Amino acid sequence: MTTPCIICVAITGSLPRKADNPAVPVTVTEQVESTQAAFEAGATICHAHVRNDDETPSSDSDKFAALKEGLEKHCPGMIIQMSTGGRSGAGQTRGGMLPLRPDMASLSVGSNNFPTRVYENPPDLVDWLASEMLAHDVKPEIEAFDLSHILRAKAMYDAGQIKDLPYVQFVMGVKNAMPADREVFDFYIKTVKRLFGEDAPWCAAGIGAQQAVLNDWAISSGGHARTGLEDNIRLDRDTLAPSNAALVARTVAICEKYERPVATWQQARQMLGLRGV
Ligand SMILES: [Zn+2]
Repeated sequence: MTTPCIICVAITGSLPRKADNPAVPVTVTEQVESTQAAFEAGATICHAHVRNDDETPSSDSDKFAALKEGLEKHCPGMIIQMSTGGRSGAGQTRGGMLPLRPDMASLSVGSNNFPTRVYENPPDLVDWLASEMLAHDVKPEIEAFDLSHILRAKAMYDAGQIKDLPYVQFVMGVKNAMPADREVFDFYIKTVKRLFGEDAPWCAAGIGAQQAVLNDWAISSGGHARTGLEDNIRLDRDTLAPSNAALVARTVAICEKYERPVATWQQARQMLGLRGV
């Protein structure tokens, strides 16, 4: 049977503002509503950041707790993945929400450039975030902005810093980091299979116009897919995406094109080895 495709919706992120696209959910209430529609459209992972009232990025654990409560109520079964990404805070504040025990959290294991700055992930912070995820039974999603990050995940796995096989996400199309390059993408897949086994699940995210491209490459290659307003606010060059759900629907259509069934939340939890199946 063809492996069902897990669709992750990255609902908010740190960067896009309502001035860029009014559909970007900012308050917890908006986030829950937007996620519920995306869940009904086929997404089974919600990748979430929280924001302050002025739309600036936040690491506020109380906001994360309120979001988790709302998602558990309105999207039962959906996998909740909280961001420990670098824009929301410095140092250990980035992992302050991990005691809430979300199903998953993003984990960047190395540094690289972002559009206007360095995305700093020093080794001691990476090790600390990984240890917190182990302590609170939170499965990391390894954000691979570069090939070295996949090999770093393998070293951490071998050292017992990551409990299960790492779930690696290839991120392509961030300005000044790895572009959406098909040969590199194919080598990423080859590397994941070599290090973690032929059946190890992996996923991919593209930024801006590359979102649909990476969805297409990942879905046609047996991987899982990420969409959402965090990474891309448009349906095409001239059209703002009206919602996260609309971007999920676009990803579902790509699954149909390649005859990949869309994973249910039960299938997604089973494939990722998460509790609650
Ligand atoms: Zn994020």
